[in-house]
Amino acid sequence: MPYVISHGCPNPIVVKPLAHGPLTMRRSGIRELMDLAAGAPDVLHLEVGEPDFSTPVHIVEAAVTAARAGFTHYTPNAGLPELRVAIAPIVSGTHGRPVGPDQVVVTSGSVCGLMTTLMALVEPGEEVLIPDPGWPNYEMMVRSIGAVPVRYRLDATRDYEPDLEALDRQISPRSKVLLVNSPSNPTGAVFAEDTVRGLVGLAAAHDLYLVSDEVYEQLVYDGQHVSPTRWDTDGRVVSAYSFSKTYAMTGWRIGYVVAPPAIAEVITKLQEPVVSCASAVSQKAAEAALAGPQTCVAQMRHAYQSRRDAALSILRQAGVSTNMPRGAFYLLVDTSRVTQDSYAFARQLLHEQRVAVAPGETFGDAGRGLVRVSLATDEAVLEEGLRRLAAVVSRAPAAAS
Ligand code: PLP
Repeated sequence: MPYVISHGCPNPIVVKPLAHGPLTMRRSGIRELMDLAAGAPDVLHLEVGEPDFSTPVHIVEAAVTAARAGFTHYTPNAGLPELRVAIAPIVSGTHGRPVGPDQVVVTSGSVCGLMTTLMALVEPGEEVLIPDPGWPNYEMMVRSIGAVPVRYRLDATRDYEPDLEALDRQISPRSKVLLVNSPSNPTGAVFAEDTVRGLVGLAAAHDLYLVSDEVYEQLVYDGQHVSPTRWDTDGRVVSAYSFSKTYAMTGWRIGYVVAPPAIAEVITKLQEPVVSCASAVSQKAAEAALAGPQTCVAQMRHAYQSRRDAALSILRQAGVSTNMPRGAFYLLVDTSRVTQDSYAFARQLLHEQRVAVAPGETFGDAGRGLVRVSLATDEAVLEEGLRRLAAVVSRAPAAAS
């Protein structure tokens, strides 16, 4: 596609096209709805996937102290040694084996970690298997590096656990990475141990890297989070973590990836051209988050769980179908009685009811007829928003789907 520079003059200049990958990338529908809702007054915001809680005070105080003490400079590419040393024993527990600080790379949010991981592993033209429905950024990341996203289906009838046989059939000689996300945004699935083990086996059988997005690992209400790294005997699993959801620290942009040493080295090298390093003051805040009391994490988890239960009860009473999230903080609400076009439904709900939700199709084709509601929303706002949503769905004729 040629690029036209007009500068408002009558003779526009046609120059070389922009890069193909980003041009083929669709914007996140969550952001689209956020932008539409931003200008509208009195909107109930159920579209945003970030904690409504403030960062706990002791973390903020530690950051202020660190900034005053001079943590206002670049840090090593992989992060401050003291933070990597603090993270290593925690992930050793999650991974069920010793993990050294050399395997930890501190990143600007897990977004940056996932992106540099894909850059480290995937050549342009190679395929990355991503979930459908799955977080929209996966497809954007894959396209932006000129690689090819291949969606694998997660079905409500299987509680959104992957069907390993179907997944196996989708793997081709061009497949390079299998990307998995549990606890999942947007399905709320927390994969069973057998599934996770099967995914590692599948990756090994086809010589794929497995990238495991575990940013919601601390937000599990039923069941237990199991990391694929537990069964990674070959060094092919890279896992991504974040302080964003666990400690209500989205704006600090701080997360980390854990990788086999040789991969961690390349990811570290890639930090330099991409961000150089994560923010120094945010790294000190992260250190305080890990060292401080963990009661704040439990309190937020309980709040999300009680909102989940209240939300499910409102929707069930109205006869509206939804998933049963066992982790993360999202509900996928079935709005197919009104329309399969989830963007149209989200726009209609915003204009008529002043409720903003995320259109299901931004998570993939499997999101048709669904919208995502964030439970990371004040309970009263959530309940009122869901009542309005349920009223729209329940007055639609059942035959419309
Ligand atoms: N992974 C998933 C599944 C997410 O939902 C999000 C944020 O919404 C992220 C990663 C990114 O989180 P961070 O703030 O750490 O970049």
